[in-house]
Amino acid sequence: MKKKLIFAIRDDDVSFFTSPEKYEEFCSKYIKNHSLISGIILNQKGSPSLNIPTKYWYTELNYNIEKNSGICKLLSDLDNKNNFFPAIHGYEHNYLIKDNTFVPELRQKKASTKLNKNLDIGEKFFLKTFQNPQKLFIPPSNTISANCASILFKRNYTLFNYPGIFRRSRDSIKGYKVMIERIMNIVFKRIDLQKPYYENKFSKCFNAVPLTSLKSEKQLNKFTNYCSEKGYPLIISMHQWELDFFKPYSEIKFLEHFLEIIRFLELKFELVNFNPNAEIIS
Ligand SMILES: [Zn+2]
Repeated sequence: MKKKLIFAIRDDDVSFFTSPEKYEEFCSKYIKNHSLISGIILNQKGSPSLNIPTKYWYTELNYNIEKNSGICKLLSDLDNKNNFFPAIHGYEHNYLIKDNTFVPELRQKKASTKLNKNLDIGEKFFLKTFQNPQKLFIPPSNTISANCASILFKRNYTLFNYPGIFRRSRDSIKGYKVMIERIMNIVFKRIDLQKPYYENKFSKCFNAVPLTSLKSEKQLNKFTNYCSEKGYPLIISMHQWELDFFKPYSEIKFLEHFLEIIRFLELKFELVNFNPNAEIIS
């Protein structure tokens, strides 16, 4: 008998620039009935990013997802199927260039003052587009300041990926506090980093494994067996827009790599659809 594994795919960066035809093909052909968490960018800023056509990179304008009626209609249709979980994936998902480094949206100055307003706008859009949407949030660029994380938890959001507290945690006192609490939990309560994080008030989070980090079958075997034994969900994060790209230093495209992993999982496990069971937006 096959072992059970709770499983979901987390696809980030659905925005004004997402082609409804390509996204529909991605869902029907490759996701099929697996759980899909879709990270939606509400008002994408024209900035250098591979999910945006190059001619928009330096426009400094915003592109609202509602102006792409095709993708909004598709998202709403997907919502009628089981196992579809839309998540807010930032408002502008932009970058500021400071000292030759890219500063992502929720690490920028005054990000926390804008966040509450942006969440209100996001929730309005979600209520209009989806039935009973859950309060789910995927930090843009997988990084977030402790102050922004605190706002999200106050509003009862469930996060995908723990706020990057180990990196740049010295940005604020709260960051330090979260870091200390987390280290104490790892050392004294032997909290497992792969486990869905529920150990403190700052940590209503599920971890995800990037598709790009899954490199060998041996690693995948070890990791999936571990999640299956412990009953932890395996959530693979990826980007539909990168499926046509070649993997670095390889002749294999991301699509092939993705399909190989799905085949492996389907063959080896009885896959159980993940449901975040988070609070509903109302
Ligand atoms: Zn993203």
